[in-house]
Amino acid sequence: MLPLTRDAAVALDAADPLAAFRERFVIADPELIYLDGNSLGRLPKRGAERLTETVQREWGDELVRGWDHWMDEPARVGDVLARDVLGAEPGEVLVGDTTTVNLFKLVAAAAGLARRESSTRTTLVTTASNFPTDRYVTEGLGELLDLRVELLEVDMGTLAATLERELAAGLGARTAVLCLSHVDYASGELHDIAALTALARGHGIRVVWDLSHSAGAVPVRLAARAVELAVGCTYKYLNAGPGAPAYLYVRRDLQQQMRSPIWGWFSQRDQFAMSDAYNPAAGVVRFATGTPPILGLPLVEVGAQLIGQAGIDALAAKSERLTALLIELADAWLTPHGFTLATPREAAHRGGHVNLAHAQARDLCQALIEKAGVVPDFRADANGAGTIRLGPAPLYTRYVDVWDAMDRLRKLATQGAGAR
Ligand SMILES: *Cc1c(COP(=O)(O)O)cnc(C)c1O
Repeated sequence: MLPLTRDAAVALDAADPLAAFRERFVIADPELIYLDGNSLGRLPKRGAERLTETVQREWGDELVRGWDHWMDEPARVGDVLARDVLGAEPGEVLVGDTTTVNLFKLVAAAAGLARRESSTRTTLVTTASNFPTDRYVTEGLGELLDLRVELLEVDMGTLAATLERELAAGLGARTAVLCLSHVDYASGELHDIAALTALARGHGIRVVWDLSHSAGAVPVRLAARAVELAVGCTYKYLNAGPGAPAYLYVRRDLQQQMRSPIWGWFSQRDQFAMSDAYNPAAGVVRFATGTPPILGLPLVEVGAQLIGQAGIDALAAKSERLTALLIELADAWLTPHGFTLATPREAAHRGGHVNLAHAQARDLCQALIEKAGVVPDFRADANGAGTIRLGPAPLYTRYVDVWDAMDRLRKLATQGAGAR
């Protein structure tokens, strides 16, 4: 139990070993409490500098000669991400394209590999509650490749048990690829990436993980957890900015066995030979497509380095304490006003954001933004109500920010601001 006074929150900030990292970010409005770092992270000051330098010195001065070194940037920045954030080996991560495109490439390539291993593997599986783009890409590939698609209905806390039951009941033999999110964007549930990967691999299934809502908030540790394939975005907890390039991870031993469905010229071996036949490069670069986003890469590097300097374990520990404080205050102050916690209560089962469900969640969210100087996120749910999503990103959010935001939400709920 943490104490519930504002002074206690201030004391937590004074003792916070990561407190100084807040100064590394642009805080344009010090009064604004920003709790949507899980949708778009703040701008690191160093990121703004690096972007300007890249535009002026590299593009401005070097012009086309810049390609001499720009060619290597997607894999080099991928190595930084691998080391500082993902717990992967050099040569296993490539930065570029969007999460959506990377997902398309890896699910398609993994389906090809799985079918070569066993011709009965003609099903793609994801969850009915997965992030929309993950479902759409899986369904679209089902149509394109003439594969069956199964969407598993899973409630919070039941993924492992549901999967185990379905795999035993036949899904294990017919599935090529399973596409899962490490942290569920809606509920905030954190899944056991090692156990679920091992479970699926035990049935010969290839798993593609989406790390968009986990990387930078919780430890990912791809190598230690025997993860084979993953994708993720860089503009949430990695703070690389709107439209920043995403990444993909292919474990080294699988790279030669897999082929990208997009035969782009940047994935060609000896690209500038301009040869007639497509011959994919060795290594993770075979998953490149076209001209890489050179101006976005420095911001990805800065974002990853900040995570590395803070240390992912320290960040995860702070994230756990911030969300614990949030939940404790919600229990004490908001439950009497009709709020319910819509995220797993146990720290081991949640990521960096917390959802609070309320019948007037939409209006309360609007009031938080317009009257209370708090930026949360709103998600509608199936029964027409919704949840307020609160993501206190640990690199720059203070304990007192969480305290003040919950205090302001309590006041709005007391005034009935949600009942317009
Ligand atoms: C944010 C997010 C994405 C984003 O996909 P883009 O192609 O970058 O727009 C994908 N999947 C998940 C789970 C996300 O949270």
